[in-house]
This record gives sequence, C-alpha cells and structure tokens, in this order.
Amino acid sequence: EPFYRELPKVELHAHLTGSVSVATMKQLITGKPHLNIKHSMTTIRKGQQRTLDECFEVFKVLHQLVDTEEDLLMITKAVIREFAEDGVRYLELRSTPRVETKTGLTKRRYVETVIEAIRQCKEEDIDIDVRFLVAVDRRNGPEVALETVKIAEDYMLSSDGIVVGMDLSGDPTIGHGKDLLPALQKARNCGLKLALHMSEVLSQKEESELLLTLPPDRIGHGTFLHPEVGGSMSLVHKVRQQNIPLELCLTSNIMSKTVESYEKHHFLYWYQLGHPCVLCTDDKGVFSTSLSQEYQLAASTFGLDQEAVWMLSQQAINCSFAPEAVKEQLQQRWAEYKSQLN
Ligand code: 5GP
Repeated sequence: EPFYRELPKVELHAHLTGSVSVATMKQLITGKPHLNIKHSMTTIRKGQQRTLDECFEVFKVLHQLVDTEEDLLMITKAVIREFAEDGVRYLELRSTPRVETKTGLTKRRYVETVIEAIRQCKEEDIDIDVRFLVAVDRRNGPEVALETVKIAEDYMLSSDGIVVGMDLSGDPTIGHGKDLLPALQKARNCGLKLALHMSEVLSQKEESELLLTLPPDRIGHGTFLHPEVGGSMSLVHKVRQQNIPLELCLTSNIMSKTVESYEKHHFLYWYQLGHPCVLCTDDKGVFSTSLSQEYQLAASTFGLDQEAVWMLSQQAINCSFAPEAVKEQLQQRWAEYKSQLN
C-alpha cells in the first residue's frame, strides 16, 4: 500500500550483508560463477522458514560473495538506495568488519569502504541520512571485540559523525556476554552508543541481566525478556526503568522461528506497556522484506490505525543515535510530511 511506502521512516536495525537485495545478490552470483552458489542459498522466500542456525549459514554464503572493497562499496550503495526508495529517511546500518586475505581487505579498509559508500550517497543527493554501527560478532570472542572497539573509536573520531556506535550480534548460542562485557564497557566509556542483540533465544536470560548493567542504549529483538515466554519481571523492570528502546523485526523472527506467529510477536507486549518500540527489517534481503512491509504487517496484525503508525515512525527518531540537532530536523520533516498529507 502506498501509505506505508510514503510514510517517512527510520531504520535502526539493519545488518549490511543481510540487507543485500535479491537483484544485487544475482549480480554478485553471476560475477563469481566459480563459487557455484545457487540462489536458494542466499534468500529465504515468503512462507519459508529456517532455524536461526540455518540463517547463519546463509550469512556465510553471502560473505563469500562480498570479498573485495569493490563489492562492499557496491552493495552498501545499493542497500542505501533501496532503503531511500522505500521511504527511509534516516538509516543506521550495522556491519561486522571482516578480513579477506585473498583480496587484501582489512578490517579498517572494510570500515573505510562503508563510510566511503555513505559519503558517495550523500554526494549523489540521495534523500537519506545514514550512520554506521560497527558490529562485534560474538562468535569471535573478547580479543576481537576489543580490537573492533578500538577501530570503532578511531572512526567515530574521524568520520564526521558517520560512525556513532556499536552492535553486538552473531550466533546467540555461541559465547557468553560476560566475556564481552569489558569491550562493551570500553566502547561505552569512549562515547560509542550500544545497540545490543539481547534475549534472542531463551538461554540468554542471565546474559541479558548482565548486559543491562551497562546499560545498552537500545536492545535488538529482546524476544525472551518478558515472563510470558520464559523471561522475567526483573528483566522487564530494568528495561522499563532505563527506558531502553527495543528494535523489533517481525518477519525476521517468524522466518528464523524464534517467534511462533505474527500474532504472538512480543511487539504487542511492549507496545501495550507504552514502551518505545522501533519496527526494523534486520535483514531485508535474506528475509525478503522492506521497512514499509514491516509497518504494514504490524498495522494489520495488531490493528493499528494510520495515526498510530505515524506515531510509531515518529517515535523512532528519538530512539536513534543521531545528534540532537539532527533529531530536531527530522522531527520537523516528519511534521511537514504530515501536514502535507492532511
Ligand atoms: P554483516 O555484519 O556481515 O554486514 O551482516 C551479517 C551478520 O550480521 C551476520 O554474520 C551476523 O553476525 C549478524 N546478524 C544478521 N542477522 C542477525 C540476527 O537475526 N541475529 C543475530 N544475532 N545476528 C545477526
């Protein structure tokens, strides 16, 4: 529906590699025939489901396809353009810096290339403000996490506000947050904002208690925080007391089977509490979705009227890691859009 596409939107939880569209994946696959990668290995089609484990296998395949600076520049620009075309006016992209010895890609060049892509899109006057969260893959352990924090800190200071924070992601069943806590503390102390995947699976209960002591600036998924699904009131209280916004990705959670059905998505629990909830795509390419589709899904599943949908989209501005002045500009833009519609 045009309403959802035209609605100005803020995307705060988008993994770069998972956001690569089917069209771009096709281009990459065609360009690297020797890898022998089939399409079914890179996207999960509508109605299909995979386990979270299987989803992480998809990322491994995608990483093989994106192994040069050139690829990275191309996919980042394409992803930014696609979000802009879908009506996203402010975007925080997250990505894990990777080394590719074969092509000479280093972690620092990785970060620089993403920043360069963001700059190029700005020069091309694409109507979207893009920031970058440097991601820590939990599977790589505490030393890599510390190294990543150092990289993020350096680019926070030299990227004119493009690098604003960090993400903690990767397979939630591997590693423990307690080992990563020192790195995350360090990141926080140097002024990096923290968007952490938390309670994505039930076994992360203790870890979430621990991570909440940081505290994070936003929570990714938070699927198993509330007691109705095996979380606890103590977790809910801490999240509410500190007013930590949740990044919620409906399609992703259904397709990767961490949530049973749209109706049972924890969006409802938190939304009814009046807690800040931000609808996000997670991996729009892998899960074949878009942010406008996520808004439409939330509206139809939970019976939100257009006013409520507007409020959701507008509230997301304040949950972003943009500087206050930018948030104010965005608020003004939203108000202008709205008056044009009425
Ligand atoms: P990249 O960091 O390479 O740009 O994006 C892909 C990576 O994002 C994956 O390897 C994984 O670490 C992370 N990721 C993407 N989707 C999810 C998700 O749903 N849950 C978690 N925990 N990590 C994810």
